[in-house]
Amino acid sequence: MIINIRRDSPQETLDQIAGILEQAMVCFRFTQFGGHPVFVTDTVLDKTLCKSLSKKKSVESIIDLPEPYPLCSLRIRPERSTIRIRNFAVGPGSFSIIAGPCTVESEKQVLTAAQQVKAAGATALRGGAFKPRSSPYAFQGLKVEGLKILQKVSKETGLVTVTEAMSSEEVKIVSEYADVVQIGTRNAQNYRLLETCGEVRVPILLKRGYSNTLEEFLMAAEYILSGGNEQVILCERGIRTFETYVRYTLPIGAVPALKSLTHLPVIVDPSHAAGCAELVPSLSFASVAAGADGLLVEVHPDPKQAICDGRQSLTPDEFAKMVLTCKKIRKAVE
Ligand code: PEP
Ligand code: MN
Repeated sequence: MIINIRRDSPQETLDQIAGILEQAMVCFRFTQFGGHPVFVTDTVLDKTLCKSLSKKKSVESIIDLPEPYPLCSLRIRPERSTIRIRNFAVGPGSFSIIAGPCTVESEKQVLTAAQQVKAAGATALRGGAFKPRSSPYAFQGLKVEGLKILQKVSKETGLVTVTEAMSSEEVKIVSEYADVVQIGTRNAQNYRLLETCGEVRVPILLKRGYSNTLEEFLMAAEYILSGGNEQVILCERGIRTFETYVRYTLPIGAVPALKSLTHLPVIVDPSHAAGCAELVPSLSFASVAAGADGLLVEVHPDPKQAICDGRQSLTPDEFAKMVLTCKKIRKAVE
C-alpha cells in the first residue's frame, strides 16, 4: 500500500504516522516518489487503520496496490518512466542501443569501439571495468583505470557510459566516472548493494538474475526505487534452463510481460543470453518485435582478440548491419 503525504508536511506529522504504523506492527519504508513523500507498506492495512490515517491532514491518499512492488507497478505510473542522461533516453518513444566491448582493455580499444558503435547508431557505450568473472584467476578488469578510460572516451565521442559495479563501494566509485551503473545478473538479489543503488543519484541498469522470476526481478528494482532512486532500467539477459546449446535461454515473453507489469523501461541483452555472436542478431530482432525499449549488445573491434566474451561479441560491421534491421522492425511494430 502507498500512503501519499502532502509535500509541505512537518516532520512531526511524519513521525506520528510512522508511530501509528509501528504500533500496528506494519513494516514500511518512507521515501520520495515522483517528488512526493510516501510511506510504502508491506501489507494491506486494515480498514480501521486506513480510516484513522485518512483523517490526518497530511495524508493525501492511500492507494491499495496488491502487487509486492507498488513503486514499480505500471498502475502507479501508467504514462511510464523515461530515464534521461544528456542525449540518451530510455523509455517511451525512444529506442536505445547500448553497445561496446565486454571489458575495457585499453584506451585505443575503447575509443575504436566507441567510434564504431556510434557510427552504427548506438546511443550509449558499455564496457566493464570491474568484471564479475566465474574464475578468480581470470582477468578482473582495469578497475578505476578502466573507468578513467571510459570517461575520457565519453568526452571524446559524446556517448554516455554504462559500466558495472559489484559492491556498494564500487557503486559510489562508478557513479563518479560513469553515467549509468550496471548491476549484473550475479548481484541482482544483493539487497545491500541494491539499497546503495537507491541512495545514489545516477541511473541504474538492473539485469535480471539468471534464476530470478519476474516478480523477484521487480522486487529487486523495488529496493532501488524505495531507496529514493527512480531511475531504473530493467534488462532481460537470459535465464538458466536445462538447455546447454545457448549460454542462457532468452525468454522473449518476459519483455511484454514486464511491460504489462511495470512503468520502468525494459531492454534486452541478447549477447550474454546467446553466448555466441551468430545468434545475437536474431535475438535482437525478436526483442525489438516484442516491444523492448532498447538493446545492450557486446561489440568488439576485433572479437577474436577480446580478453573477455569475444565468442559472443559482434564485429562493428555485423553490429551496423543488425542495427539497420532493428530500426526497420521497430518502425513496423510502432
Ligand atoms: C556484462 O554485461 O558484461 C555481464 C557480465 O553481464 P551479466 O551480468 O548479464 O552476465
Ligand atoms: Mn560480457
